[in-house]
Amino acid sequence: MKIFQKGFNYSQDGPGNRLVYHLLGCNMRCPWCSNPEGFSVNGDVLFEMTPQDILAEALSCKPMFFDGGGVTFTGGECTLWGAELTEALKLLQENGIDTCIETNGTSADFEKIAEHLNQAIIDLKHPDSDRLQAVCGVGNEVTRQNIIAFAQSGKELLIRVPLIGGFNTDREAIDGFAKFFCSVNRPNVKIELLKYHEYGKDKWEKAGLQYKMENAFVREEQRCETEENFRRFDLNVVRT
Ligand code: SF4
Repeated sequence: MKIFQKGFNYSQDGPGNRLVYHLLGCNMRCPWCSNPEGFSVNGDVLFEMTPQDILAEALSCKPMFFDGGGVTFTGGECTLWGAELTEALKLLQENGIDTCIETNGTSADFEKIAEHLNQAIIDLKHPDSDRLQAVCGVGNEVTRQNIIAFAQSGKELLIRVPLIGGFNTDREAIDGFAKFFCSVNRPNVKIELLKYHEYGKDKWEKAGLQYKMENAFVREEQRCETEENFRRFDLNVVRT
């Protein structure tokens, strides 16, 4: 597996202190992406590791996995590494290490990957598939199916929504999110709303790509109002 970034992170990529691997390649092209250097599978590789290498590294780090920590794979889009990712997750679980992925949820192999997950973080960027396809290049049908299936599995699921002004913060989009989230609402499902930021802007320019986002910032009041709106439907809204 080709890794372009690696390090420990506390609580934001799954529970506890986690070793987080960013795998190269993504099938979407979100114009606000904060890791554009991970778009291409042929991008700059920091490490190339087999599932066995990852297991060996994780075992050597075990004392660091405090507060329910473990290993998280993200990206780019980690599920593009279907077979290797599944093998790595299986090895980690067999050795008692907690597993998580952060994904855009578009993988047709998600069910196989999910067998070896303790929990998952799945992003849903827009409730309308056509709108998502037009802006990010891939619709949301498979993501919705994978969210439904994982929610039903009873494992911990965090659904993340990046709130992007001018894209998914209008009344219709918020109502669309709420309707879908109500349909998958169970005790194991949490929702998190993230505000648009421009942390990746410089990386786009460095990669020779044009950063086209404008006026996409979302006020904190708007995030709070949307969270309250979702809570009225008994949705479990969290901040990690
Ligand atoms: S799915 Fe995630 S990694 Fe891929 S382009 Fe969108 S924000 Fe970036």
